[in-house]
Amino acid sequence: MQKFLINKEALSADKAAIHGQDAKHICKVLRLKPQDTISMTDGHGNDYTGCIDKASFECVEISILSEKKSLTESNLDLTLCTAMLKHNKMDGIIKQITQLGVTRWIPFYCKRSIPLSGQKKEQKQIERWQTIARESLKQCRRSCLVDIMPPMDFEQVLLFSKACSHKFAFWEASERPLTGVLPKENNKAVVLIGPEGGFEEEEIRLAVESGFISYSLGPRILRAETAAVSACGLIQYLLGDMGGR
Ligand code: SAM
Repeated sequence: MQKFLINKEALSADKAAIHGQDAKHICKVLRLKPQDTISMTDGHGNDYTGCIDKASFECVEISILSEKKSLTESNLDLTLCTAMLKHNKMDGIIKQITQLGVTRWIPFYCKRSIPLSGQKKEQKQIERWQTIARESLKQCRRSCLVDIMPPMDFEQVLLFSKACSHKFAFWEASERPLTGVLPKENNKAVVLIGPEGGFEEEEIRLAVESGFISYSLGPRILRAETAAVSACGLIQYLLGDMGGR
């Protein structure tokens, strides 16, 4: 059953309320009514089961029956850093990395990335991306929203990555296959994917100097969005909860 996002602040002792589009969806599409059970999450890793008390297109009032830790969040803290692409390509990345259990996403600027000019535009973009992440969370029944960070420049990304035990830079000129990667103590991984025009050699050199290892995703040139999603799936398989361990 679909999981609905509730605002933790709006949770009183054992009551919750769902408003807006979700309330309408619950009534009109799912046709849930009072006494039906419903699954919810606060978006921060806590899941709730509730019983509907009142249901209208405007608001669904719920009594919380139980709370439990989420079973749909990965054990791996995985950050995907992708160079700024044309924004509709970013939309697809957010949907798919949400399903792949990625923890946070950092869009970044580098020599050949697509500029997203203007502070205002950036803020509007981030809000749009957060909406996409919320919709995808409900669909795949996750319990933690992907943390969408404001765009960084390349140096800031390298600085952020210092705290990660696994640093993967995917580069089509690398000859190193993604094998032999084993979990480490803090099990925090960071992935670097370049822009449509690719990383400059100097950028890869800087990344390697910061502790990244460059890996190949095989002999074909993948589009940035394909590389991003493939890399996250492979790393969840090797270090996370998609079956490899
Ligand atoms: N420089 C590429 C070219 O020759 O057309 C374009 C870069 S590719 C479209 C975008 C990004 O996806 C790259 O910067 C890299 O991070 C990743 N990527 C694509 N194919 C890859 C491969 N075979 N191995 C590793 N990374 C790859």
